[in-house]
Amino acid sequence: MRLPAQPPRDYPIMIGVDHLEALESCISLDQELVIITDHRVKKLYGTSLREKLLEHGFRVMLSSFQAGEKSKNARTKERLELEMFAWYCGRDVMILALGGGVVGDLAGFLAATYLRGIPYIQMPTTLLGMLDSSIGGKTGINNSYGKNLIGAFWHPVAVISDLHFLKTLPKHQLINGLIEAIKIFLTRDKEQFYFLQDNIKQLLMPDLSLLREVVNRAVALKISLVESDERETGMRMILNFGHTIGHAIERLSHYQIMHGYAVALGILVELKISELLGILSQREFQIVLDFFRKLNITPTLISKMNPVDLLEATRQDKKRTQESIRYILLRQIGMIEETGDTIVHAVEDAMVIEALKIIQMGY
Ligand code: NAD
Ligand code: ZN
Repeated sequence: MRLPAQPPRDYPIMIGVDHLEALESCISLDQELVIITDHRVKKLYGTSLREKLLEHGFRVMLSSFQAGEKSKNARTKERLELEMFAWYCGRDVMILALGGGVVGDLAGFLAATYLRGIPYIQMPTTLLGMLDSSIGGKTGINNSYGKNLIGAFWHPVAVISDLHFLKTLPKHQLINGLIEAIKIFLTRDKEQFYFLQDNIKQLLMPDLSLLREVVNRAVALKISLVESDERETGMRMILNFGHTIGHAIERLSHYQIMHGYAVALGILVELKISELLGILSQREFQIVLDFFRKLNITPTLISKMNPVDLLEATRQDKKRTQESIRYILLRQIGMIEETGDTIVHAVEDAMVIEALKIIQMGY
């Protein structure tokens, strides 16, 4: 006898729905619920969601923690777990992860390990949560050695993305999320990249129907990459476009530069390498650079960083996995460079340094 390699999983990803209606469509009245959220989202949406669910006859608890990446650790996780034990939550309880990627990753990992695994629903409230972190089943926490080092693949029973949450999201958080969409469109979908570029003002207003299109498309592309990777094609690597340099920039800025902004600069460096290698046209590089400038992503953010230190910092992620550093290169907007059967390329240090220096100078 054999067990299947992957347990079957098939769950709805609902985008642009009313979160209360969607929630009621996927849980029964006798379902006990625990909302996990951060302090900010609790004030904005958590308390009122709990009240509404109570009015509708559910048993609901609410548990929250200080907003921000610093809370995504084992200490917070344990505190929340103990709270749930104090409430006598058994295996039949369902977690509602209401918040951004920090809440989703932490609450998802808690669900993966509480009594060896309980169901949860992702209810992302940030754009990054809706189009990236709630999709793909990765959950986890940070420790003093780095980000997301402890975790599990644990899929939710549903993802509910109510775009109305985005009305209160600050503009820089919207941009932070949009970068992950731009990342995936640059590698896979030229039309959608230009759609995003042409409509950027309205998207940032935010125009929710336009944002819905962007989220739909980005999620569809992420799902196709994650699925193809389960067939071991390595395509999931595309999701790391811009991230090798991006992570190094985040680290050297002591996390003062937000993830999306750092990734955008990492994308520019990978595009510049592509241009220097004669793979990408200068015109297309310029299109992306001009667009990023409009989003206030300016190379001056990293002008004081030493390129050699940056290169060194890119190796830190990889030390742990013993992999060599490889880059995704672009042939055209919407199309990556593929040679043979690989989509990642080794690039000489001197070339990376040259590209970094050019970006730091702002062109
Ligand atoms: P976040 O969860 O910290 O949210 C950002 C800020 O926005 C927080 O202060 C939060 O309180 C606030 N906020 C959330 N929703 C709001 C709303 N509707 N209105 C106003 N304020 C709101 O950060 P994030 O950018 O959503 O997520 C980043 C995290 O996601 C990182 O920890 C990262 O590692 C993780 N991530 C995970 C995956 C994955 O596949 N699991 C993928 C990408 C990122
Ligand atoms: Zn990212």
